[in-house]
Amino acid sequence: AKSTVGQTVCFFESGMDESARERRKLAMVLRHAQERGEFELLYQPQRLLRTGEVSGYEALLRWHHPALGLVSPCQFIPLAEETGDIIVIGEWVLREACIEARQWPVQMKVAVNLSPVQFLQPGLVDRVRAILVECGLSPNRLELEITETAIISDKLRALHCLRQFKAMGVKVALDDFGTGYSSLDTLHSFPFDKIKIDKSFLLRAEDSPQALAIVRTVLALGRSLSIPVLAEGVENERQLRILQSEGCDEAQGYYFGHPAPAPSLALPKAVNS
Ligand code: C2E
Ligand code: CA
Ligand code: CA
Ligand code: CA
Repeated sequence: AKSTVGQTVCFFESGMDESARERRKLAMVLRHAQERGEFELLYQPQRLLRTGEVSGYEALLRWHHPALGLVSPCQFIPLAEETGDIIVIGEWVLREACIEARQWPVQMKVAVNLSPVQFLQPGLVDRVRAILVECGLSPNRLELEITETAIISDKLRALHCLRQFKAMGVKVALDDFGTGYSSLDTLHSFPFDKIKIDKSFLLRAEDSPQALAIVRTVLALGRSLSIPVLAEGVENERQLRILQSEGCDEAQGYYFGHPAPAPSLALPKAVNS
């Protein structure tokens, strides 16, 4: 099933689909999840393919519900977008991720997903700036991941935001490229620092010539526009070899590491940042 109720589009198993009543109940519990300490951020490494170096980690949210167990972000993020709770949750995510990244070696960035609802919130750029100051993280170590859904509804405003982030030094990546509203105009008109090819293409690339062609085309596009491309969903060595032979810049996926608890626990301590 494909959920388009909120702004974030996610795929999930049909068994997880709920009735309207159940969704309302879940929304009510979700409201208190943060204060009850039920949220956790996991981090997944992103690697430069040329050197093998970890360039950063993407922060991915998890909700540990005492009775329901682990609730997938595909289930609760669209819900939080509907209720508006995503604003508060998103700020928590940003703050946690910045505090965590402060502990890492300085060349590593933290990538944080921004919901389209957050992106459209007035004062977003100032909020991000304030959180960076509060957490003591240099702006160039933060990369915001947004989807095209976030920019299509108000392109002028989106352009203004992206330019402000650029001026601050905050990086912005275009997430899930190739799905949804992907248009060449977006890449041409907005100053993105990175393109993330949606994982659905690489996952199918081995048995679908069309999916492989899309991966190749996006890589060529990135090269010709001088925008680095990251491929998501690298699960095995064959997929990695495809990416290497096609000149992909960066990759992320289970092959390099599953989303896992704070890397600062395992990394050598940063001298300064
Ligand atoms: P996304 O931003 O496209 O994140 C990538 C998803 O792919 C993650 O799912 C990740 O665990 C999964 N993944 C990573 N490597 C592989 C792989 O090799 N194979 C496969 N099959 N999957 C892989 P996750 O963590 O369940 O998150 C799902 C979506 O929920 C994210 O998609 C993002 O749209 C949203 N999300 C997660 N955390 C946040 C958050 O803090 N804020 C917002 N607004 N959205 C979030
Ligand atoms: Ca993402
Ligand atoms: Ca993605
Ligand atoms: Ca996604």
